[in-house]
Amino acid sequence: MGSDCLFCRIVAGEIPATVVRETDTTLAFRDIGPKAPVHVLVIPKEHYADVATLAQGDPALAADVLATSAAVAEDEGLLGDGFRLMFNTGAYGGQEVFHVHAHLLGGAPLGPMLARDLA
Ligand code: AMP
Repeated sequence: MGSDCLFCRIVAGEIPATVVRETDTTLAFRDIGPKAPVHVLVIPKEHYADVATLAQGDPALAADVLATSAAVAEDEGLLGDGFRLMFNTGAYGGQEVFHVHAHLLGGAPLGPMLARDLA
């Protein structure tokens, strides 16, 4: 994907980010607009647009993203009180950056899963 993708550019070191963990296949960095005391984005270095494409195209890489998310949760002290891990996907999911990323949120009670009851 390369130069058109914001998160590919972070992987390439062309745009700065506060990296908290890096593996051969994944990168974790702090969200630029945190919505909780801990808000880290965990991405595969390889470009996939969203979590469905990633899980269908490379399940092992999807597992790497989960493993890195768990490691960051432990590093950030979130395992005891809990945290939220979510993938906004597509238009209804509110996805804005089309390089798959897990939002790791924690450090305070996060409230209901959705701001509104849509059922
Ligand atoms: P989403 O709506 O799920 O696509 O979330 C995109 C997230 O990327 C938002 O929470 C943004 O605050 C975050 N974001 C956008 N640009 C950057 C950046 N340069 N570094 C870190 N986080 C970013």
